[in-house]
Amino acid sequence: MILEMFASGPIETNTYILGCSKTGKACVIDAPQGCLKQIEKVLEKHNLTLSKILFTHSHWDHTAEAFLLKEHFKVPLLIHELDAKNLIEPGSDELPLFFPIQGVKPDLLFQEGDVISVGELELEVIATPGHTPGGVCFYLAKEGVLFSGDTLFKNSMGRVDFPQSNPASMWKSLKRLATLPPQTKVFPGHGPSTTIGAESWMETAEKKWG
Ligand SMILES: [Zn+2]
Ligand SMILES: [Zn+2]
Repeated sequence: MILEMFASGPIETNTYILGCSKTGKACVIDAPQGCLKQIEKVLEKHNLTLSKILFTHSHWDHTAEAFLLKEHFKVPLLIHELDAKNLIEPGSDELPLFFPIQGVKPDLLFQEGDVISVGELELEVIATPGHTPGGVCFYLAKEGVLFSGDTLFKNSMGRVDFPQSNPASMWKSLKRLATLPPQTKVFPGHGPSTTIGAESWMETAEKKWG
C-alpha cells in the first residue's frame, strides 16, 4: 500500500492518495482547494494511475476541487447517497461558502457496507452520520487503516452544530468506531493521524462533548 497525504485550502483539509503497490491503481480521498497540482505530483512520483475519487462527506472544504479533478482525470466520483446533493449543489447544506464552488454530479453512490476496490486494496464503507447525514469512514481491515473524514480527529471530533448535523447520530458513530481494533491507524480529514486505541474517549463521547 502506498499512502501520501497533504493539507490544503483555507481550513487545512487533508487529501489522501492511496495506491495499490501491486497494480499501480490509486484513489484520492477528498478534494480541497489547491489539491490538483499536488495530486499530480504524487501520482507521478509513485507511477500511479488514478482510478477513482472518494469523498468522506460533502462539506465545501472537502469538495472544492471535485469539479476540477473530474475534468482533469476523467475518473468516477463516489460519495454517500445522503451527501450527494451538496456535491451537485454546493451550499445546499446551508453552510456559507468561502468562495464560489462549481457543483459536479457523482458517478456512483455508495452506502453502508459497500466495498470499494482500488487495485487489490479493499475499502469498506462505514456509514458514520452525525457531522453530516452521509458522512462515512473508509476502512481497510487487512492494512488496519481507517480514513475518518470529519467524524474523528486526534483527541477530537467533527462539529455537530451545523444545520444538517445530528449529535445523537454522532455518538452512535463514534461508539461504533471504538469497536475497531485498537491498533487501527486513523487518518482524519484535518490534523495529524492517530489510532483507535488512543481515542478511547469515543466510548463516552456524549458525556465528554454532548
Ligand atoms: Zn466537514
Ligand atoms: Zn472538514
